[in-house]
Amino acid sequence: MLNKVVIANRGEIALRILRACKELNIRTVAVHSTADRDLLHVRLADESVCIGPPSPAESYLSIPSIISAAEITDAVAIHPGYGFLAENANFAEQVEKSGFIFIGPHAETIRQMGDKVAAIQAMKRLNIPCVPGSSDPIDDNDEATLRMARDIGYPIIIKAAGGGGGRGMRVVHTESHLLNAIAMTRNEARAAFNNDKVYMEKYLQTPRHIEIQVLGDGQGDAVYLGERDCSIQRRHQKIIEEAPAPGITAEQRAAIGERCAQACRDMKYRGAGTFEFLYENGEFYFIEMNTRIQVEHPVTEMITGIDLVKQQLRIASGEKLSLKQSDIKIKGHAIECRINAEDPNNFTPSPGTITYFHAPGGPGIRVDSHIYSSYKVPPYYDSLIAKIIAYGETREIALSRMRNALEEMVIEGIKTNQSLHLDILRGTDFQRGGVNIHFLEHWLNL
Ligand code: ADP
Repeated sequence: MLNKVVIANRGEIALRILRACKELNIRTVAVHSTADRDLLHVRLADESVCIGPPSPAESYLSIPSIISAAEITDAVAIHPGYGFLAENANFAEQVEKSGFIFIGPHAETIRQMGDKVAAIQAMKRLNIPCVPGSSDPIDDNDEATLRMARDIGYPIIIKAAGGGGGRGMRVVHTESHLLNAIAMTRNEARAAFNNDKVYMEKYLQTPRHIEIQVLGDGQGDAVYLGERDCSIQRRHQKIIEEAPAPGITAEQRAAIGERCAQACRDMKYRGAGTFEFLYENGEFYFIEMNTRIQVEHPVTEMITGIDLVKQQLRIASGEKLSLKQSDIKIKGHAIECRINAEDPNNFTPSPGTITYFHAPGGPGIRVDSHIYSSYKVPPYYDSLIAKIIAYGETREIALSRMRNALEEMVIEGIKTNQSLHLDILRGTDFQRGGVNIHFLEHWLNL
């Protein structure tokens, strides 16, 4: 097993990784900015290294600082968490070149999946169903572009190959707007992602977002761990996730899951990964692959009983996959609510001191959070402060446990979206299950 791991992240995921390391008797190094000295995992880690000022560019995104921290603490591996450098192929490459293990896929895999056009091309070769669209980036042949859009059929979505975090996308309803929309998306993509490659896809009107969790050992073995439904989104950002996805049959799960696992075997995928799909009229359409642990991984852990972060650490240490597909059984239902430090009405961030925190509890409740009474939420980073996960034998039980948990939880001193979650959970549409990705925005506009 790995001897010592640098946790190159902050907040709840850094604490989650620390807990997994401790269970496996792996020593931990927390790296943090000057704004994050009081983070829980920094206090709990065996060692900690301050890597720079609050600005992410000078701390959590600073590749030399993180590698130096690994060098001075004599660590063997680096876990990137999610966000920050987790899907930065150059980082993965430099980590390995410096003699450390990168806890994630090979740099080449990250690079390929980070370019959505390359990812879609690879997936088509690997027999994964994709959204009808352009197989190549859009070029300057306007006639051909217009013809392609006509063949796909409007509405069309223009997407940046290097996009992420819900940015770099534009929907086009009529031909007269197409070329202008492409130019605008291209300009934005150049500025935001330093990559002006754009492509087009059919814009699906009422899809659900359903994703498949996989684990591969990098040696040609891989399994799938069922799906998650992440359709409750605002501005393409997930807010509530659940597993299994309401209404998906065991046959559908096995069919799409096995295709994903086989794709991972074929590409010798290493680590945890997620195939994201849009699901409409009974069909799955691949949109992208995330080559890291995801925020919503706990719902899969709850229904499978498998600790995905420990699996990541085992795989990184060179172990073969200990799980066979037949070992993975889905039991019960789990829901996750992302608690953000933000105004529930206008979604503006609400950093500041948490004067009082009372965590919910009881059967089936899991709280993944780094906050505590007197903790100061800094203004520099993502607003996620807690994930409440509710498990139950059935979806109804999980839902009622989640409602209880949200009613019990107390966070004072800052604003959070706790009340928004309760409103969503009390609504009959969400209770019925299977709403599409537009549900939340329509509901917020009512
Ligand atoms: P990102 O990497 O920015 O998260 P994705 O490709 O995963 O981008 O898409 C994010 C979200 O955008 C999806 O969950 C969905 O809500 C919407 N979206 C993306 N592609 C399409 C499409 N072809 N049709 C309809 N909605 C889409």
